[in-house]
Amino acid sequence: MSINREIWKVPFRKDGLAVWKCPRCNIGMLVLDQKTLVHYETASSRSASHSEDWEPSWDSYSFTAAFRCNYKKCDEVITIVGTGQAEEFQDFDDDGNYNSEYEVVYFPRFFSQPMRIFSVPVTCPDTVSSEISKSFNIFFADSSAAANHIRNSVEELLTYFHVKRYDRIDRKLRGISLHRRIRFYEKSNKAVAERLLAIKWLGNAASHPGGLTQDDVLDAYEILESVLSALFDSKQRKLDRLVKNVNRLQGPLRRGKTA
Ligand SMILES: [Zn+2]
Repeated sequence: MSINREIWKVPFRKDGLAVWKCPRCNIGMLVLDQKTLVHYETASSRSASHSEDWEPSWDSYSFTAAFRCNYKKCDEVITIVGTGQAEEFQDFDDDGNYNSEYEVVYFPRFFSQPMRIFSVPVTCPDTVSSEISKSFNIFFADSSAAANHIRNSVEELLTYFHVKRYDRIDRKLRGISLHRRIRFYEKSNKAVAERLLAIKWLGNAASHPGGLTQDDVLDAYEILESVLSALFDSKQRKLDRLVKNVNRLQGPLRRGKTA
């Protein structure tokens, strides 16, 4: 399954549609409780409003809001803090006259619980899934930090598969680079190792000037999701076994004939 990127990148509006699934039950949708949405104009925005060049789109805000899960048996409440920006909307009346209106749109920076940006199989080891959860937690505020947790999740995944973590040199343990560990793992699963390597390259960019964008992190999530699905999703593993057997037999499986 691919990630629906737009819902994680686009700001929300006061009367917008519910687009985020509840992270607790993974059934209901989170619906804004409109009366809880409060925004405050930032001090820099107030100062800028005195400028002769001021335009409405310069207005910026901070906000808090609560979203409630619409699945009644769950009824979870998630609070969000973030920033707001005035955005221009263009409208034409019946005579074709152009009207410009401004509405505040909201960019979340922190959710009180990590969102599930992609689904992690239930059989995925806790050491891996907890790093992914930490990544989801920081995704909206700091792309590079989110990528670092994804890199940690790859380290944990290799540890789960007993890939050597340290070299013993002169009776001392020396850490093995993630790159070398992925190369070790290549011997047991080349296809997955290729994907892990791509995640590693994305993660490396997190510590370089310029860092990473949300899209880069979403690329890493998309690749990691496919890796976890291949390794831990029972349906995917069953399908992989079927493909392998058909290819080995170069034809249909030999089942007992029932008709
Ligand atoms: Zn829920």
